[in-house]
Amino acid sequence: MDSIIIQKFGGTSVKNTERIFNVANIIAESYQKGYHVLAVVSAQGDHTDELLAKANEINPKANLRSKDLLLSTGEATSAALVAMALEKLGLPAIPLMGWQCGVETDTHYGSAHIKRINTERVLSEFAKGNIVVMAGFQGVNIFNDITTLGRGASDTSAVAMAAALKAEICQIYTDVDGVFTTDPRIVPNAKKLDFITYDEMLELATLGANVLHNRSVEIAKKYHINLEVLSSITRKQGTIVQEIVSADKSPVRGVAKDEDIARISIIGVPDIPGIAFKIFSKLSSKNINVDIILQSIGRNGTKDISFTVVKSNLDTTLGLLKDYITIIGASNIVTDCNVAKVSIVGAGMEFQPGVASKMFEALYQNDINIQMISTSEIKVTVLVNKENANQAIRAIHAAFF
Ligand code: ADP
Ligand code: ASP
Ligand code: MG
Repeated sequence: MDSIIIQKFGGTSVKNTERIFNVANIIAESYQKGYHVLAVVSAQGDHTDELLAKANEINPKANLRSKDLLLSTGEATSAALVAMALEKLGLPAIPLMGWQCGVETDTHYGSAHIKRINTERVLSEFAKGNIVVMAGFQGVNIFNDITTLGRGASDTSAVAMAAALKAEICQIYTDVDGVFTTDPRIVPNAKKLDFITYDEMLELATLGANVLHNRSVEIAKKYHINLEVLSSITRKQGTIVQEIVSADKSPVRGVAKDEDIARISIIGVPDIPGIAFKIFSKLSSKNINVDIILQSIGRNGTKDISFTVVKSNLDTTLGLLKDYITIIGASNIVTDCNVAKVSIVGAGMEFQPGVASKMFEALYQNDINIQMISTSEIKVTVLVNKENANQAIRAIHAAFF
């Protein structure tokens, strides 16, 4: 067989010696079936957080290039250890850094995007009969510097390698049995999904379901990657992410939560044309993504504009707007970090009326106030107080499942 399989193992799957041997056994099974195996590994357990804490201890304002070099060592450690375990099992394995696997990225340290993958080295290792154990989450830019791809992005390394190598399947091994109707750690009776569409998974991942990195789903959709999410511990049948899934009884496939956001409100802007353009073009010029946007009706010649940004962009956003709002004639700017986004996602909701109102009813029955609402064909998102977020998830999940 000349088929290629990509198997990605998250932090909990490689957190200690026992788990590393467990992973080595999973890889060995595929190798013995005749697959060329590329295993992509994450840093062990909370290693990335520990490295970040160390960096902050020394210099919280350290330049991002140094930070990326530091963070890349977490995945390098895992790759070397997993390769050593395979060697112990008597299998030929070689650990490689992202750059050695040809992952070329842009220069955005900390959240680089993959531009191109040169598969030469990996293919030559396959030709020699080697299992490749690759450090996920990283690549190299045009300056020959190591970059990282964003938190949780080992998934993206794996799916991108699957696309470049035209792999038969890409398996994402994690610490839950697959993709659930919501985070099973918040709602213990959440249901495991056998299938989910790329579009639904992309929305869920973007809206906070970190079981898959959202860019990994984007790539999987674009290149029709045969993607499966499953547990490295229970080894049960996981969740298949694919183009089309047969209609379900429920119009909602999943519920997600995102607490990594802040709300910004610009108060008392003049009620004249061009204001929204001026504000949001200012932000987009600095690559700041805004999410839910709400504008009030003008009254007495002024109105308010509110929107959300990811927390890591809050300081930059305020820096850009602080002086600018006086120039455009607004009176004040206020922020709130104590908020969370709660969303329902499902391709079926487009054709079923009443889905949003059922969600709002569940919140009303739990006395949870909605600050902002945003909808698309396949999702409804509300902004609520952070303290209410888990209760909101449970109430909404109970209403639909
Ligand atoms: P890994 O280290 O394997 O990449 P992550 O912690 O990144 O694992 O992702 C797995 C976690 O995602 C689960 O432990 C779970 O708490 C969380 N999660 C959030 N939403 C969902 C969901 N809808 N289905 C499954 N897991 C989810
Ligand atoms: N180790 C990195 C992180 O913790 C990447 C990953 O796990 O996917 O974000
Ligand atoms: Mg992850």
